[in-house]
Amino acid sequence: MPSDYPETHVASVRDLLDVYVVCRTYGHSWDDDNNAEYSTIFSWTVALRCERCSTRKIEAMNNIGEVIYRRYQYPAQFRVSANRQGERVTRAQMRLELMRRRVLARRRVGRAPKMPTKGTKLVLLEGELA
Ligand SMILES: [Zn+2]
Repeated sequence: MPSDYPETHVASVRDLLDVYVVCRTYGHSWDDDNNAEYSTIFSWTVALRCERCSTRKIEAMNNIGEVIYRRYQYPAQFRVSANRQGERVTRAQMRLELMRRRVLARRRVGRAPKMPTKGTKLVLLEGELA
């Protein structure tokens, strides 16, 4: 089924770049884009840019610091099209996709985690998810 937005959306989480899956799972790594700040009498606008995926967030606040406007500019193929029922991808689906990719990556280098058996306690080692 063709997407309504072929340049900006992919059909499935499996089609996303790895870096997009990381950002969509853990959140963006924002940094100031100082060149994009400007102010008016009524508002102060700042732009942030994700260091990993280059998504931009433009945010304007009023003179008491409340956000009065926020929008995002995503890189091409960052978003996933809704399925036939109109459902969007959830954060939980992104987590599962990230774990699937990490398991596959470990298998490629010969560090496949053992499959847990009944009664196995899952223990995450420090840095396991970093
Ligand atoms: Zn990002």
